[in-house]
Amino acid sequence: QSLSDDVDPDAATMPLPQSDERRWSDTSAYARKKILQSWIQLPNGNWELGKILKTSGEESLISLPEGKVIKVVSETLVPANPDILDGVDDLMQLSYLNEPSVLYNLNYRYNQDMIYTKAGPVLVAVNPFKEVPLYGNRYIEAYRKKSNDSPHVYAIADTAIREMIRDEVNQSIIISGESGAGKTETAKIAMQYLAALGGGSGIEYEILKTNPILEAFGNAKTLRNDNSSRFGKLIEIHFSESGKISGAQIQTFLLEKSRVVQCAEGERSYHIFYQLCAGASPALREKLNLISAHEYKYLGQSNCYSINGVDDAERFHTVKDALDIVHVSKEDQESVFAMLAAVLWLGNVTFTVIDNENHVEPVEDASLSTVAKLIGCNINELMLTLSTRNMRVRNDTIVQKLTLPQAIDARDALAKSIYSCLFDWLVEQINKSLAVGKRRTGRSISILDIYGFESFDKNSFEQFCINYANERLQQHFNRHLFKLEQEEYIQDGIDWTRVDFEDNQDCLSLFEKKPLGLLSLLDEESTFPNGTDLTLANKLKQHLHSNSCFKGDKGKLFTVVHYAGEVTYETTGFLEKNRDLMHLDSIQLLSSCSCHLPQAFASSMLIQSEKPVVGPLYKAGGADSQRLSVGTKFKGQLFQLMQRLGNTTPHFIRCIKPNNVQSPGLYEQGLVLQQLRCCGVLEVVRISRSGFPTRMSHQKFSRRYGFLLVENIADKDPLSVSVAILHQFNILPEMYQVGYTKLFFRTGQIGVLEDTRNRTL
Ligand code: ADP
Ligand code: MG
Repeated sequence: QSLSDDVDPDAATMPLPQSDERRWSDTSAYARKKILQSWIQLPNGNWELGKILKTSGEESLISLPEGKVIKVVSETLVPANPDILDGVDDLMQLSYLNEPSVLYNLNYRYNQDMIYTKAGPVLVAVNPFKEVPLYGNRYIEAYRKKSNDSPHVYAIADTAIREMIRDEVNQSIIISGESGAGKTETAKIAMQYLAALGGGSGIEYEILKTNPILEAFGNAKTLRNDNSSRFGKLIEIHFSESGKISGAQIQTFLLEKSRVVQCAEGERSYHIFYQLCAGASPALREKLNLISAHEYKYLGQSNCYSINGVDDAERFHTVKDALDIVHVSKEDQESVFAMLAAVLWLGNVTFTVIDNENHVEPVEDASLSTVAKLIGCNINELMLTLSTRNMRVRNDTIVQKLTLPQAIDARDALAKSIYSCLFDWLVEQINKSLAVGKRRTGRSISILDIYGFESFDKNSFEQFCINYANERLQQHFNRHLFKLEQEEYIQDGIDWTRVDFEDNQDCLSLFEKKPLGLLSLLDEESTFPNGTDLTLANKLKQHLHSNSCFKGDKGKLFTVVHYAGEVTYETTGFLEKNRDLMHLDSIQLLSSCSCHLPQAFASSMLIQSEKPVVGPLYKAGGADSQRLSVGTKFKGQLFQLMQRLGNTTPHFIRCIKPNNVQSPGLYEQGLVLQQLRCCGVLEVVRISRSGFPTRMSHQKFSRRYGFLLVENIADKDPLSVSVAILHQFNILPEMYQVGYTKLFFRTGQIGVLEDTRNRTL
């Protein structure tokens, strides 16, 4: 059998069935098109490649690799691509675009450490879970010079820089994927490239050093990822007119505070705690009264202190050096470490019952006095804050004693607030250090590294917010790739058959609608002093039962139909996490401290509560600080984010986790497929392939390539010039369309012209 016989010459131009092209019901197509190979789904769900020996009627005879011959229902066969297409670097090149073929192609590449593959305009990155020889200066040079054109994060970053300069439009690189899929590593690789190309001023070095700092304070070991980011991050890197990096700004989203006081068996709290305990100098240990990690209750509860292959003490020094580089003074660093120690010591504060109504008082021991010393407050005031609450009733203040659970809550709330304020404060310091001077050029590349869609056995408020964010991002992705594209074709009078795409607006409305959306109802219930997790669940079911994206379950359960699948949430803890109340007493305690960090934290909390706000404000218990609910604040942040991204040209990277055990070389088909489906990779390829993804206005096109024309074009309008260029270069009619204002090209066409232009220049 010769190779050319294997290749199906018109497969690529065959019209694709509208709906499910995974299945091929037309069995005669096999005979007609001489398809020789086919995918057969095994009982375990995996696909195997087989040779079609014979197709007769409803059944086909297939030989499998091990020599086995099986009979299958022809209808279940899925066409496989000819061997010549094995491992193509863009899924668009596949003749048959079906799930097993895509899975196979990614796997084929993965086995050869080619972890990057294009899916039309999207870069797919499969986590290698090992070092792959694809990075560093040699590679950066190759991509800069365009001597290497295989798919890579570097290539995406390079395109972003070029388009920023060429179009004078801000760019964004949007990285998504499940926890452990490689988002944060990918973001760092992109930053590395931008720093290498835009470096020179020295500021790029500072920008790179923000990574170890933010990872120490915002990442933790989870069961899914030893270095899991527990916050979302957008870093906007600014460039001067000459293309040099001039500064950067970081915005963070929704740090997981609960981890500070509580974490699951086998997981860890934030890296920095263990780094401090392991790496502090004897002098610092004495100053902070440090003991070892397992003696702190907050760290001891999960029974996990170290990470394979990670030296916490060494990392501590890396973080300190990085703090030096972003200009956090030694004094401030010491204050930061004191706050960390204070949080740890707070966890060791215990209580004794003092009366028969179960009211408690903190035990006056070394833990308590160390906390007071570290934050610089009076020990009696600390004791009062941890065991009583001031309630304002009309014009009187009543002192209410706390019970043990209430006191533990107050203690943990204080620890969580100190930590999250510390995190925000650090980001602020970093931003001050990276700030662009007065003269902003308005050119930037933003990199977004944000938690992917999550669906666990139990899903709580965190997953609720994360998945909401992912709905927003998915819409951005959809709108960008499909909707805008389509609208543009139609606007420009291009004949382009409408392609239906999944729009998730219904699900977003379920979250955002006022007053009867998930977030509004959650806020409303949060303001009711008598609201409980169960009343919340009931309220949601009462008002949303008819919504097609919502399903009520029993008790505290409800289900949302997300674009990536259904997720069942349990309302336990929703109200409390959404309120995220900080007692006024605790804020007052912090503001009375002699150390400057607690004071700064107190004022930032007060500012937050006094700011005029758009969302609902609520007061619970009378004397607590008023502030925006967590859900509403997050929604506001997301809107702002989407607005910012809306003004950029986006570049999408989808990270894929090939296995759940963080192990190299293991590629689980089912797991990969589920992620590909979640992020719509197949849809994108299908649509891009059938469309004309490259476009340029007639003005720009004629200006850029007009000089290549042999004929005189002096008195011609841009459209005519464009057409003349197309003719002169014999661009095939099916490869482009001429719109009213723009030219539309199939993938790759503009490259041909660019090459000619570059050779001529
Ligand atoms: P995410 O941010 O998506 O949760 P990470 O970026 O933290 O995931 O990646 C998880 C782990 O996977 C990393 O700690 C690293 O060990 C490995 N990893 C990810 N991307 C790469 C890569 N390009 N090369 C080598 N290892 C990688
Ligand atoms: Mg991460």
